[in-house]
Amino acid sequence: MKYLFDLHTHTIASGHAYSTLKENMEEAAAKGLLAYGFSDHSEAVPGSCKNIYFMNFKVIPRKYKGVLILRGVEANIMDFKGNLDVDENVLKRLDYVIASLHTICIEPGSLDENMNAYFGAMSNPYVKIIGHPDDGRYPIDHDALAKEAAKRSIVLELNNSSLNPMSARVGGRENAAKMLLAAKKYGTYVVCNTDSHYADYVGDFGNCDDLLNESAFPKELILNNSMEKLKLILNKDIEDL
Ligand SMILES: [Zn+2]
Ligand SMILES: [Zn+2]
Repeated sequence: MKYLFDLHTHTIASGHAYSTLKENMEEAAAKGLLAYGFSDHSEAVPGSCKNIYFMNFKVIPRKYKGVLILRGVEANIMDFKGNLDVDENVLKRLDYVIASLHTICIEPGSLDENMNAYFGAMSNPYVKIIGHPDDGRYPIDHDALAKEAAKRSIVLELNNSSLNPMSARVGGRENAAKMLLAAKKYGTYVVCNTDSHYADYVGDFGNCDDLLNESAFPKELILNNSMEKLKLILNKDIEDL
């Protein structure tokens, strides 16, 4: 399968990633992506950018060497109500919003608490993607998550970095397989993202590809193979960006 876009990537602005936006865009062009999205961590991750970072994206070109450049954020879910650390006046300016649980921002809760955190975040109208819901440190009910995501037109992320054995996340592969099974059952869309923190990994979907093939996951439910399906996660029409 051809992967046309990568929407979860980090730049040096995240404070613990090591490539510039331009280096990432260059890599996206070299890999032949049609769209590239950068989604730096919001401010509750220590050393990451303040909200003002997300307010000046108008200076960044919309196209770089033919690649559509998309402006996003990986927002932190801060509590079990699903509140984010990014205000609406910032969220509304962005092309898309990923919401994720990070241990540095929220201690893992019980299964019910973790589910409430996700459900709360999913009720935020700007949130379109749940980032890496594959971390065993946050136990969840994959069936319930996929069912609610399908109902609310939220996309679940298959995170290439979680599938790397070096990842700090726990049981990534096993949990991602459960997520795919649940997504298949409820017809939930899945987006593959690299979560790159270094330019060379932008657009490298090797781990995702292996797991998708092993799981015989339906291609129709994968966003990355169609620019039409990309629209499902954008806050605006592509023509209006
Ligand atoms: Zn990070
Ligand atoms: Zn993350």
